[in-house]
Amino acid sequence: MTNARNLITRRTALLSIGAGTAGALAAPYVARAQSTLPTATYTMGTDEAFATALNGGNDTARLRGPIQRIAIGFNFTEGPVWFGDQQMLIFSDLGANRLYRWDNKNERLDIYRDPSNHVNGNTTDKQGRLISCEQQTRRVTRTEHSGDITVIADSFEGKQLNTPNDVVVHSNGSIWFTDPPNGLDDDFEGRRTTREQENTNVFRVDPDTGEITAVITDIQPNGLCFSEDESKLYVTNSRTPAELGRIRVYDVSADTKTLENPRIFINPEMGSADGIKCDFEGNIWASWGGSPELAGVRVFAPDGTDLLQITLPTRAANLCFGGPVGNMLFMTSNRMVYRVFTNTRGANMI
Ligand code: MG
Repeated sequence: MTNARNLITRRTALLSIGAGTAGALAAPYVARAQSTLPTATYTMGTDEAFATALNGGNDTARLRGPIQRIAIGFNFTEGPVWFGDQQMLIFSDLGANRLYRWDNKNERLDIYRDPSNHVNGNTTDKQGRLISCEQQTRRVTRTEHSGDITVIADSFEGKQLNTPNDVVVHSNGSIWFTDPPNGLDDDFEGRRTTREQENTNVFRVDPDTGEITAVITDIQPNGLCFSEDESKLYVTNSRTPAELGRIRVYDVSADTKTLENPRIFINPEMGSADGIKCDFEGNIWASWGGSPELAGVRVFAPDGTDLLQITLPTRAANLCFGGPVGNMLFMTSNRMVYRVFTNTRGANMI
């Protein structure tokens, strides 16, 4: 099936959902089709999402229940992060310049922050505070429990950062983030402006001194995650020509200040990963795009073996585990957000 036909089929399906259900749902769908900044809404559905087990596996051994679309109508969803104390997901609509809050207990969608300074990736620290990559303001920030915003990093060697993209926090409090220039090209996901950094680094912010050091300098990184025991850091390449689509893995040094022994974890034949997460068993769950056949999520064993393909109608840009026991997978995929139960848990979720 061609891409164009897919689009037509999908659009027709969406409109038919609106027309075929309660009348109250029909109007928002029409409004979104005519608006450049559509209003997102909560609508439960399954779309054309499905899972395929690979290499002799059984998909029900890794996923349970349907792949549910929990919200739709965004411009480009990114940066999902779970807050267990409030049983809620926060995620970004990068293009609409907003953060949204999904109340998982009451199945309700609200705007959390507007404008968001075009936040891309999000995570939490051990104190349960929101850590965000702001692409418009080219900085990493922490939202305090009071609501105040603290700047974690906005420059390196006297020059403004590119556009921080994704971020993770080590259990010792160090903050690690990627800094590709993706948000400097246009005003949709940041601001069109001049780049100052020579490289596109992965940075580490020291928990004691706040010092920012470049720990990876030779790729254009995107997503990143630690393994369960934090002995390894996985990093995706979204645009590095020589390593396009590859996922690297590094050993974290004993003092956790540097990375060692870089090697290729995945060298894909098609497409590339964006955001990635590790489960407690060491498998890597990677949001995938750049290839219509592989749009969605791919799951790899610790040795790189393909385990599972979750096929979504459009690419997935990021994902996270959540839910009361960490076994729920949330996927941000273009205009949608999806949810599915898994038979594993996110690394260090509980
Ligand atoms: Mg990313």
